[in-house]
Amino acid sequence: KYSTTTAIEDPIKPPVKAEYTQLLIDGKFVDAASGKKFPTLDPRTGEVIAHVAQGDAEDINRAVSVARKAFDEGPWPKMTAYERSLILLRFADLVDKHSDEIAALETWDNGKPYQQSAKIEVPMFVRLFRYYAGWADKIHGLTVPADGPLHVQTLHEPIGVAGQIIPWNFPLLMYGWKVGPALATGNTVVLKTAEQTPLSALFVTKLLHEAGLPPGVLNVVSGFGATAGAALAKHMDVDKIAFTGSTDTGKIVLELACKSNLKPVTLELGGKSPFIVCEDADVDKAVEMAHFALFFNQGQCCCAGSRTYVHERVYDEFVEKAKARAMKRAVGDPFKDGIEQGPQVDSAQFEKIMKYIRTGIESGATLETGGERLGTKGYYIRPTVFSNVKDDMLIATDEIFGPVQSILKYKDIDEVIQRANASRYGLAAGIFTQNIDTANTLTRALRVGSVWINCFDVFDATIPFGGYKMSGQGREKGIYSLSNYLQVKAVVTPLKNPAW
Ligand code: NAD
Repeated sequence: KYSTTTAIEDPIKPPVKAEYTQLLIDGKFVDAASGKKFPTLDPRTGEVIAHVAQGDAEDINRAVSVARKAFDEGPWPKMTAYERSLILLRFADLVDKHSDEIAALETWDNGKPYQQSAKIEVPMFVRLFRYYAGWADKIHGLTVPADGPLHVQTLHEPIGVAGQIIPWNFPLLMYGWKVGPALATGNTVVLKTAEQTPLSALFVTKLLHEAGLPPGVLNVVSGFGATAGAALAKHMDVDKIAFTGSTDTGKIVLELACKSNLKPVTLELGGKSPFIVCEDADVDKAVEMAHFALFFNQGQCCCAGSRTYVHERVYDEFVEKAKARAMKRAVGDPFKDGIEQGPQVDSAQFEKIMKYIRTGIESGATLETGGERLGTKGYYIRPTVFSNVKDDMLIATDEIFGPVQSILKYKDIDEVIQRANASRYGLAAGIFTQNIDTANTLTRALRVGSVWINCFDVFDATIPFGGYKMSGQGREKGIYSLSNYLQVKAVVTPLKNPAW
């Protein structure tokens, strides 16, 4: 009935060691001031991979003070932009060279398929740093034609010490989206990684120092949100906060920033993205794309296409084929070739998803397939498909963050626009149609930060990403990300001889 699942009870030994487990402050690996450690777990088994130094407020203070010094006294913001760019390029080369180990660490800590880490995420990470290296010496101000005999110019200056808090679903990519633009624009950084996935950031930051990053410019503190994360968000000496994670935590971070020194905040938060299959769609292709939009990365994507709206004319065929596709999904040990889905990241996420599956059944949606745990070890969940989902069911309103597809039926375009927009979120949307007019109408009507037409999850370094409504504030990646890390200084000089 289901595709074969493999190696769940007998996990494959990862081809890497968890070598770096301390905090990285001022260019050196150090223990937490408290001496405390916390276990980071293998999602395939729930067993300990390593004990990692547990940073808290005191370590954040230490990291901020060296980042402050590296910003105020240099050399980072005072180096030439070209020198900064060369360090980022050398870093990208080193990551490339160590890509197998980095991909293995990412998979071990997070549970995502190794092929995905190795073929998508590490190459994208390298590409992000090459992209931002290219920006370093192309950031400059304007001359402004003000009234009066004046010479007016703007200087684009780094904002200072950036505090960055990242989640566990894409540990490396979130590091790249945040650290890349901050360093390219001359800022110094304190990065708080997610407690579920601290390992890959420590490995790559070691390489960044080998590439020539001066000590103190990027400091990595592993630890928990309520202690280390909150200490960073409310720190008086931090000039900017960038956060990715849940909407609830985003609100806390914004409040802490507001109550401390009013530091500007960018937020990448949750989503409940519609994936709209139009009546003219090629159903087989639409099923495959909708499947990818939801199940990619074990469903742990902020922009997952988690409300699959299907036109009534193709609905029955779509549901049948979506179910068959989910049953074929290869779930198993993420280190095994050909695996499409590994375990969820931890027991908390696993329990949360199983709870949502139960609410789906209780609220009367039709469970087409899945809905249960796979194996007896770790956090594997069978790919799950619900049909007959109604807009007010929790599985259609809340971010499940797991392999649970909710299929909803619609009749016409005005109705689907209204229903797709009736969400507190506005991160992304997928549109599947051959009709350019339908695509244009939907694109303009949907209140979301990304629209993918006949594609999904295209995360090129050049393309901005961010949310409308409660999905966030600001944009990351692409040219738009640079302004998050820059101040604009207006400089006015009277002209002695206005004729010239
Ligand atoms: P979270 O938002 O609590 O965690 C994200 C990051 O914020 C982590 O580094 C965490 O340590 C930190 N953090 C937590 N509390 C904090 C605080 N008070 N102050 C400062 N930083 C804090 O997310 P979670 O608990 O890991 O997952 C819960 C849900 O969030 C998921 O089920 C999913 O719906 C959503 N989520 C979204 C994303 C995304 O990419 N938008 C990523 C992860 C999780």
